[in-house]
Amino acid sequence: KKATYVISACLAGVPCRYDGRDNLVPELKALVEDGKAVTICPECLGGLEIPRKPCEIRVVKGERKVYNVKNEDLTNAFEKGAQKALSLARKAGARLAVLKAKSPSCGCGCVYDGSFHKKLVPGNGITAELFLQNGLSVMTEQAWLTQKIKEESIMEKKINLGIVFGGQ
Ligand code: SF4
Repeated sequence: KKATYVISACLAGVPCRYDGRDNLVPELKALVEDGKAVTICPECLGGLEIPRKPCEIRVVKGERKVYNVKNEDLTNAFEKGAQKALSLARKAGARLAVLKAKSPSCGCGCVYDGSFHKKLVPGNGITAELFLQNGLSVMTEQAWLTQKIKEESIMEKKINLGIVFGGQ
């Protein structure tokens, strides 16, 4: 059976964040438990440890690089992790990715600017960008939750209408 989604592992409750914590979204964990999703943590797949120093993307001479807060260049680990995450997603047959917002790996739409001052700029994390380039749909957990609520309310309205019409 193929999985529909590939999900950032921290969103499914895995404590793989740089600070050893998770970003649990119970609805996403449930998808994994139902076999509808596989999890990836690109930073762990790239060989980085838990815990690790926080990292941000910086543009250097036109190239996107990833540095930790001690100014060590970890671009290679991030790129290796992204490639591994992509092959796991492909192996599972997933076409949709729900990835943790703002992360230098998983962020989609905006990421921190490399100054470590919590300043966001438009852009995608290294893995989110690779997924998009390879035809996967990528959304943040917040966008996914908003869409889920919208779909559920449409469904609820349909059910209510069905009851109304059914009673007449
Ligand atoms: Fe979560 Fe992605 Fe960071 Fe791993 S790399 S901790 S999955 S946001």
